[in-house]
Amino acid sequence: LKEYVSAGLPKESDMAVVTTTTKLKLPEGSGGVLVKNLYLSCDPYMRSRMTKHDSASYVDPFNPGEPISGFGVAKVLESGDAKFKQGDLVWGMIGWEEYSLITSIQYLFKIPTTDVPLSYYTGILGMPGMTAYAGFYEICSPKKGETVFVSAASGAVGQLVGQFAKLAGCYVVGSAGSEDKVDLLKNKFGFDGAFNYKEEPNLDAALKRYFPEGIDIYFENVGGKMLDAVLLNMKIGGRISVCGMISQYNLVQPEGVQNLMYLVSKQLRMEGFLVTKYFPLYGKFLELVLPHIKEGKIIYVEDVVEGLENAPSALLGLFAGRNVGKQVVVVSRE
Ligand code: NDP
Repeated sequence: LKEYVSAGLPKESDMAVVTTTTKLKLPEGSGGVLVKNLYLSCDPYMRSRMTKHDSASYVDPFNPGEPISGFGVAKVLESGDAKFKQGDLVWGMIGWEEYSLITSIQYLFKIPTTDVPLSYYTGILGMPGMTAYAGFYEICSPKKGETVFVSAASGAVGQLVGQFAKLAGCYVVGSAGSEDKVDLLKNKFGFDGAFNYKEEPNLDAALKRYFPEGIDIYFENVGGKMLDAVLLNMKIGGRISVCGMISQYNLVQPEGVQNLMYLVSKQLRMEGFLVTKYFPLYGKFLELVLPHIKEGKIIYVEDVVEGLENAPSALLGLFAGRNVGKQVVVVSRE
């Protein structure tokens, strides 16, 4: 990142690819690890880190002039911490660079199995996967037969929430921003229904078409007008997992939600969450999801871009909906 970006959509020119020479050596006595980066994850929350904000926010802003940091997959070249050794494959917080010296290893995890694609640890088996798991199972407590609505449903988190909902015996409908994505939802991920929100003049009417009796669970990824229409269509006693509100991230002024009072009249539980709180459940999550991946019962679509130099455009593509599935950037395949 060159300089902080204020409100609005960032541009590719706000970021730069820089070549420097450096010694690939872990400093003496360092408790960190030196890694070679393999795959980078593009995530919507990274937008908030491009703007200078106070430390009250849950995640610190990037430091202009330094490499962007984010979730990814890497190989350990040298380790000053007993938890990791040379050759280990890890996922967690790394830098958008070819090699990283990681001194804070709180969010660095050893990769437990390599019999699935390594890039999955940026998505289904990494932070977005844990987000879908915690946000759906922990926050929404789904029951068989309930009705579930997911927005940004074809993305890194949404595609998995939909498949979890089917595994839990629910009826699930998703919204996405193109006909191709709608097709993926219905024909690849097994959603019971899906619609292109950009083609719906009236979101309330669209939701009534799919949920004539109302929605039990809403997995919120977009906010704004969609949340407003969903509130009108929730059943009494419903649950809303507030995962994110991507439609608001680049606005100068957030849009006003008109229907918030329905939280009261319908006695709804609308709960926000940060995935990091649920990282201790990673083992439980793998037990659930790995067998399903191996048996082909859960599938995962990735949008893979080659080369660190293409990372800025891939990141910004999230806000235009250019990504089809989890946006991954390959820095190196080994
Ligand atoms: P996705 O892979 O879904 O990519 C983002 C998608 O959002 C785009 O492809 C686009 O799809 C959609 N989108 C972009 N702009 C808008 C808009 N103005 N209105 C509606 N949809 C839009 O991202 P993720 O799955 O990684 O993230 C989904 C949500 O989860 C985000 O809100 C993110 O911030 C949140 N999140 C929260 C976490 C937590 O700890 N609470 C952790 C991880 C993610 P389309 O073509 O359908 O418009």
